[in-house]
Amino acid sequence: MSVGAAGNPTVAMVEAAFLHHGLPWRYINMEVAPADLGTAVRGAKAMGFRGFNCSLPHKVSVIEHLDGLGESAAAMGAVNCVVRRGQELIGENTDGKGFLKSLETSIDPRGKSIVLFGAGGAARAVAVELGLAGARRITVVNRSGGRGAELAGLLRDTLKLESELVVWSGDYVVPDGTDVVINATSIGLYDPDARLAVDLNSLHPGMVVADVVFNPVTTRFLREAAERGCRAVDGLGMLVNQGVIGVRFWTGIDPDPEVMRMALEKAMGV
Ligand code: NDP
Repeated sequence: MSVGAAGNPTVAMVEAAFLHHGLPWRYINMEVAPADLGTAVRGAKAMGFRGFNCSLPHKVSVIEHLDGLGESAAAMGAVNCVVRRGQELIGENTDGKGFLKSLETSIDPRGKSIVLFGAGGAARAVAVELGLAGARRITVVNRSGGRGAELAGLLRDTLKLESELVVWSGDYVVPDGTDVVINATSIGLYDPDARLAVDLNSLHPGMVVADVVFNPVTTRFLREAAERGCRAVDGLGMLVNQGVIGVRFWTGIDPDPEVMRMALEKAMGV
């Protein structure tokens, strides 16, 4: 079950995994009004659902209806994937885990210095998972100071990372010594020409540049970074990997990521 506004491409991706692995399971999309969330979660539990995803606006408010939280969901205070373990419904967050899996195909974040644009839900998920994976330093670059300061504080106080906030104005110059640069804002979503305010001359060959935006698959930021010799990591891989991790949590099998990526691309028309 998926509670919230998750679209059909995700449904196609998850059901492709069930079909491919011979599981007679369904993943269905349901809209739940905020006032009905507790009743919906109790219903899912009563009906023996193995789990569900939840999207905005339920990612935080679902927590009070669950029996416990995984480590990263507890640290970031947001749940996008609920898993039945025994008689309990446990909240996990697979967004950051999916991102990490993608990133690790290019670089091990342990000990690395990272610049992260954004401080919303995706940025929090990515930052917490990078912290748990041993990143040394995360510079949060965000337009609004309040949200940015909160994230930098969480990284320092809870995960004991080096972290600071830079309030974003004008073209950001990526500091020398940065290993990974991540766009975790919504800039570029559905707009291949949208420009991230970053000084491209501060991107150097060998840096890993990642984007959480998955449509278009290659954002302008990734394109321009690749032209400068950076290694690009796209947001579609993150979306596939969070699906892979969810299916593994629910079913215990290791689904084939290629099958899921192909179904997702077909459903998205990319
Ligand atoms: P939020 O609304 O929680 O956060 C949006 C972030 O983008 C904030 O930091 C906001 O800054 C910043 N932002 C938006 N517009 C601008 C702008 N014009 N200039 C500067 N900063 C801007 O969104 P989410 O974190 O939930 O989602 C962000 C993106 O991540 C979306 O595109 C979403 O599709 C993608 N995503 C991808 C996933 C995947 O699997 N690939 C999974 C989850 C999300 P401020 O705080 O100042 O408002």
